[in-house]
Amino acid sequence: MDVQQIFLSGEVRHSLVDGPGIRYTVFFQGCPHACPGCQNPDTHDMYAVSPVPVSEVIGRIRRERFLDGVTLSGGDPMAQPETLKAIADAVHEIGLSVWTYTGWTYEALLAGAAGEAAIEALHSIDVLVDGPFIMDLKSSECLYRGSTNQRLIDVQKSLESNRAVNWEDI
Ligand code: SF4
Repeated sequence: MDVQQIFLSGEVRHSLVDGPGIRYTVFFQGCPHACPGCQNPDTHDMYAVSPVPVSEVIGRIRRERFLDGVTLSGGDPMAQPETLKAIADAVHEIGLSVWTYTGWTYEALLAGAAGEAAIEALHSIDVLVDGPFIMDLKSSECLYRGSTNQRLIDVQKSLESNRAVNWEDI
């Protein structure tokens, strides 16, 4: 697939629930995790949609005002790691922060569970909301997460210190 294409599930122009402030949320199509109780089963089959140019998504983000950041969700954005990185780098050029949800843990991504491109993509993310949704650990009190196993990880600090550093601890 052309790196400048995205299998796109949808977009929310002004989200208040996918990270701090007002965020533009991009929902990637495609997820291999099949978590029981997933709220977005329609996003699992990547090929249920036709890919669209990443430039269209970036253009829409650029035209928005009053954004604090962009959140990449899904589906699992790490299932399209080159696309994730292209969008994240463009968002940083605009001057906005990048949060990314994934069903893989930070440690699994670093170990190569989603491939080399996913390890590269980590270098372009500010905060990673990691791990699968686990129904038995579901909680409405977790900030920006669905279950208590999921973490908010400051990715750049984690890469620097060779351990997962929680965003909330900073
Ligand atoms: S990682 Fe997210 S989108 Fe994928 S199956 Fe789990 S809850 Fe659903």
